[in-house]
Amino acid sequence: MRSPLLDLVGERTVLLDGALGTELMARGLSLGTCPEAWNVERPEAVREVHASYFEAGADVATTNSFGANRIKLAAHGLEGRTAELNAAAARLARSVAPPGRYIAGSIGPTGKFLKPQGPFSEGEFEAAFAEQARALAEGGADVLLVETQYDLREALCALRGGRRATELPVLVTVTFNAHRRGFFTIMGDSVAKVMKALESEGAAAVGANCTLDSEGMVALVKAMRPETGLPLIAQANAGQPVIGAGGVTYSQALEDYVRFVPELVRAGAGLVGGCCGTTPAFIKAMAAALGRRET
Ligand SMILES: [Zn+2]
Repeated sequence: MRSPLLDLVGERTVLLDGALGTELMARGLSLGTCPEAWNVERPEAVREVHASYFEAGADVATTNSFGANRIKLAAHGLEGRTAELNAAAARLARSVAPPGRYIAGSIGPTGKFLKPQGPFSEGEFEAAFAEQARALAEGGADVLLVETQYDLREALCALRGGRRATELPVLVTVTFNAHRRGFFTIMGDSVAKVMKALESEGAAAVGANCTLDSEGMVALVKAMRPETGLPLIAQANAGQPVIGAGGVTYSQALEDYVRFVPELVRAGAGLVGGCCGTTPAFIKAMAAALGRRET
């Protein structure tokens, strides 16, 4: 299927949005509350966060559905509302999207492990992701964004589930740690292995998010670029979380974070945005670093 968003990647760098959970916390979401429940209980707060990212210049809003697969929702007793919460997530983002902007349906990990480390089969994971993907598509998502995947096998379940259940392009970002011998997932998968596997299973774009700061992400983009011909996504954290009296803050200051954005693009990233610790102010500064006019 043709995707105007992916066509845009061929023309210029696409700006994604930043962190969602911390923005909802700033509006009163407490730890332990299911963030996706807010899609029906506090829709105005979710809408406000998406609108703030669009105002900052983001081309794409990522839906409030990161943990809205049936397996993860079960921890809150909400698994029976999977379709409702995902469709609402996409609809909320769509309702505040200006013309020419896009909605990425967020699909995060289940938080559980596949056999033999855990109790789940690949078929069970794939079915859960397919259910989520279908509802995100029904709610109006333009693409699916499978993100923060730390296990290649689970990422592939999500990619297959999304492709099976919808006609939407599926973008996949994996989280890598830096080691002396290169970048690996916590399950030990190399960059080359991850890129090749995702490409051969039909991902529309691939990349990395979370864990690394923007300087570390430049090195990771350089490592990913030779391993795939697909568009590359890079969404770095604003450094490392620091637990203080006032809650969690992040170690990389905005100016330092944004300094590396042009390098991300030079290294080959076609879609850039933020992850943990980033805010609409980061996205606004990234838009300026990308040479966008004020929106
Ligand atoms: Zn993150």
